[in-house]
Amino acid sequence: MKTAEIRKKFLEYFQSNGHTVVASSSLVPGNDPTLLFTNSGMVQFKDVFTGKDMRPYTRATSSQRSVRAGGKHNDLENVGYTARHHTFFEMLGNFSFGDYFKHDAIRFAWTLLTEVYGLPKDKLWVTVYQEDDEAFGIWRDVMGVPVERIIRIGDNKGARYASDNFWQMADTGPCGPCTEIFYDHGEGIWGGPPGSPEEDGDRYIEIWNLVFMQFERDVAGNLTPLPKPCVDTGMGLERIAAVLQHVHSNYEIDLFQGLIAGAARETNCTDLQNNSLKVIADHIRACSFLIVDGVIPSNEGRGYVLRRIIRRALRHGYQLGQTKPFFYLLVKDLVNEMGAAYPELAKAQSRVEQVLRQEEERFVETLEHGMKLLETALSEIALTDPAPSAGTAPILSGTTLFTLYDTYGFPVDLTADICRERHVEVDIDGYERAMTRQREQAKASGKFKMAEGLTYSGTQTQFEGYEHLECVATVLALYVEG
Ligand code: ATP
Ligand code: MG
Ligand code: MG
Ligand code: MG
Repeated sequence: MKTAEIRKKFLEYFQSNGHTVVASSSLVPGNDPTLLFTNSGMVQFKDVFTGKDMRPYTRATSSQRSVRAGGKHNDLENVGYTARHHTFFEMLGNFSFGDYFKHDAIRFAWTLLTEVYGLPKDKLWVTVYQEDDEAFGIWRDVMGVPVERIIRIGDNKGARYASDNFWQMADTGPCGPCTEIFYDHGEGIWGGPPGSPEEDGDRYIEIWNLVFMQFERDVAGNLTPLPKPCVDTGMGLERIAAVLQHVHSNYEIDLFQGLIAGAARETNCTDLQNNSLKVIADHIRACSFLIVDGVIPSNEGRGYVLRRIIRRALRHGYQLGQTKPFFYLLVKDLVNEMGAAYPELAKAQSRVEQVLRQEEERFVETLEHGMKLLETALSEIALTDPAPSAGTAPILSGTTLFTLYDTYGFPVDLTADICRERHVEVDIDGYERAMTRQREQAKASGKFKMAEGLTYSGTQTQFEGYEHLECVATVLALYVEG
């Protein structure tokens, strides 16, 4: 089943069950200036869940374009490393605004997966929140899932990708337990069932997450049952497509084949398995759709995230030997794959190409020089540092990170990503110090301007400015509402 057909079947199924099909909203959230990007299907319905906004329907379904490359959800560091993460993906969802609750939500999901899509039941595992006996009972008694495949998950187990199975919109407001559905891709792939120490692997892949908004949390942390509980679900289109197309990785589905072939064509790469091709294929989707939705590369906020993704794609092209602008040439391949589902993409094709091309031309000039500097630094580390032992990896200095950023336009996460591939760590503290020094010098001379609120920590780039803003906005809203 092609991806387009899977999307269509999902929406039709929920439509035939009384849901209104709602178009995907923009990647730039219209109702929430503090959120970096639309990162799930529920974003456009936020105010409907809290009762601030009323709609003429109580059941909705959508296929929402989503980006997770900054802010609270950031999967940029996972792209190229897992089989299931993208920066841009489509989230299929069904929503109940005070209409049906757990029983029907679980029944809809199970029926769609096992009857409409015809998945074998014995490959499906489910998790519930540890205290949610109601959901546990529905899975066991109504859907007939054997108890060995229903796993209770607690608040946060600390694993890298661990789901905590208790969802909350913010520190206060609607919240409640989740239930997730996993697919077992089979032996030979590293990973264990949810809740096991190996769950971060890619054997058991989460395909669908059902959130039951059941409580309202107040400032003191007390939970009060909501008078009208709601349902919010999300299933990654590419993940369910991988399952239905009998492939393991999202990058092997039909939609990605065209993009990977395009990336191979433009970089003259003959090995279609090359990891860089997957990263480029992922990034062309995120970058194009961000531009469609009005984001342009810049040095701050959303524009800087876009710039960072573009530059990452370009350095992968460079790694494959392509030193000229090539990325913009993949827009036509994307339009081939997704233009029918997203006419706005087809319409914006030449604008997207133009924006990307301009950005590429800017960066290719410094990319090569920066890469040479980095290679020299990396080979010097290899010469001077003893082989890594007892958990000590060689470290790239903060000064080099800073020079690459400041002189060659290498966002620090880009350099860190290259280092990660070479098993070299980066001195982020040293980089921050160099940055502070420069900022102070520039302040003194009165001419420095940079992306404020942008800090880098470890392997995750976090926009603490936005996170902070989200927090402030929540607190403010709370006081306004009394
Ligand atoms: P994971 O644990 O695998 O990172 P998640 O729990 O963060 O996924 P949710 O926030 O529950 O994901 O989002 C709902 C669904 O959207 C997931 O079950 C998955 O199918 C899909 N999804 C989430 N993140 C991504 C991503 N980066 N790329 C592709 N699909 C995704
Ligand atoms: Mg995740
Ligand atoms: Mg998860
Ligand atoms: Mg989840």
